[in-house]
Amino acid sequence: MELTVLGYWAPYPRAGEACSGYLVRSEGARVLLDCGHAVFSILQKYQDFRELDAVIISHFHPDHYVDLYALRHAIRGAMFQGRRKHPLRLLIPTEPAPLFDYWSDTQEFCTEAIAGEIVVGDLRISFSPTVHSMPGYSMVVEDSRGRRLVYTGDTDYIEERLSLAEGAELLVAEASIKDQDREYARKAQHLTGREAGRWAAVCGVQKLLVTHLWPEYEIQAIVDEVRQEYSGEMYLAQEGLTITV
Ligand SMILES: [Zn+2]
Repeated sequence: MELTVLGYWAPYPRAGEACSGYLVRSEGARVLLDCGHAVFSILQKYQDFRELDAVIISHFHPDHYVDLYALRHAIRGAMFQGRRKHPLRLLIPTEPAPLFDYWSDTQEFCTEAIAGEIVVGDLRISFSPTVHSMPGYSMVVEDSRGRRLVYTGDTDYIEERLSLAEGAELLVAEASIKDQDREYARKAQHLTGREAGRWAAVCGVQKLLVTHLWPEYEIQAIVDEVRQEYSGEMYLAQEGLTITV
């Protein structure tokens, strides 16, 4: 399978770019992980949205889901014009309940609560609850050859959760905060660059994608921090970056 970065800023994008959105494609599946600010616009450069098989939202912070509203209308239009036959499969957390109810009630999506493990085409996707200021999930995506991609979502650094990425081919890790602002990271329940690197090193992942970046930081400082902990193959998120898993 391969992963293409559509957006990676948080909690708002730099000019012309997008917040969290990652396209995962295999021989038999096209899945969008998260759909934050401006992701729908960028998505169309890389993938016909009418042919998506599923969308998964890690949690309901705006930078991870708001472009679902645009996607909803696009799917409606495609169904109206006969260019897409079925509603799009949508997986979301059950909380906050009003948002779960809203999206469950749409005609354009076939909505399911995130739980346990699902199959989309030739991909198996399992979920693990994060520790964050809102209920959410990390995800493990496994292809038919047993290769694994782990997406941290937004989460605090919790030793007991690290093994989720043990031996994975790719770890997609948020690195929102500089380590010097670690106290704030604990309060906001995000990873620092250093913690993202440590997670990758502890689990011996083959590749690390550093993402979920704050536009106000000088990004090289985050990269330098990651490098203090992890010496393996590392990628810094940018639009269109495609990593083979
Ligand atoms: Zn968040």
